[in-house]
Amino acid sequence: MVPLISSFDPWRSGLCTCPPKLTFNPYTGCDHQCIYCYASGYIPNFKDCHPKKEALAQLKREAAKLKGETVSISNSSDPYPRVEATEGLTRRCLEILVESKCKIQIITKSNLVTRDDDLLIKVPATVALTITTHDNGLAKLIEPFAPSPSKRLRAVQDLTKAGIPVSVRIDPIIPLVNDQPQKLIAELANIGVKHITCSTYKAKADNWMRLTASMPQVAEKLKPLYFVRGEKIGGSTLLPKEFRYKILKGVRDLAEVNGMKFGVCREGLAQLNTASCDGSWLMPKAKDV
Ligand code: SF4
Repeated sequence: MVPLISSFDPWRSGLCTCPPKLTFNPYTGCDHQCIYCYASGYIPNFKDCHPKKEALAQLKREAAKLKGETVSISNSSDPYPRVEATEGLTRRCLEILVESKCKIQIITKSNLVTRDDDLLIKVPATVALTITTHDNGLAKLIEPFAPSPSKRLRAVQDLTKAGIPVSVRIDPIIPLVNDQPQKLIAELANIGVKHITCSTYKAKADNWMRLTASMPQVAEKLKPLYFVRGEKIGGSTLLPKEFRYKILKGVRDLAEVNGMKFGVCREGLAQLNTASCDGSWLMPKAKDV
């Protein structure tokens, strides 16, 4: 049987600078349907999100063998797709991990995570909320079925108030679309966010098709930048390195001015990091929980 919990980035690709951790996905697929999604290219029928079969029984068996490791949920889907509101699978998984005294790192675009603050407060935990823009209209275009940025910002405040450390992922930045995050970063600073993780859009065949369908004029302008001058890494095409550096350095400077730590995600520019890239430095010590 394929294990449910596995090492995060077991290949230790040079691009990933995350500290060692484990990962698992309660769901296969995701129904937020972000146009830039990377996982949709390698998981069939990705938007038909469904709970993993026998996830709870298998998680119980695997969690019983853990010794306080960090488990990151999720990296190939969102642990709070729309169906989680009725399924409650992620919540039941969290109950098991809390029982096993794991450290928990949540990555999500949904304010539904606040429902589970009573569990997350019982163990060392952090939440990384992805907020790519402060503009609700733009978010509707690029993340059509995810909760609005306003709801996510409110979730950041609610989690912080509940004592759960939160980082924000501006991930990805798409040039000409959301590459002016000044207002967003000022809002994040205002509500007490201490860490930003950022990346630039990485073009893959299927996400490029969606981007072209949603924003044909933007795609036309980005095409030479990615596909003539860009850098091919693995199965993705990135902006030229000097462009990525300029965009990410700009965000880092804004973060610094606003008193926040900063990390980049899979860019080959780890020199820009001012803290562990995934915000895990925010994780409380077990004795403090
Ligand atoms: S929330 Fe994440 S996994 Fe879900 S569609 Fe968006 S990018 Fe893909």
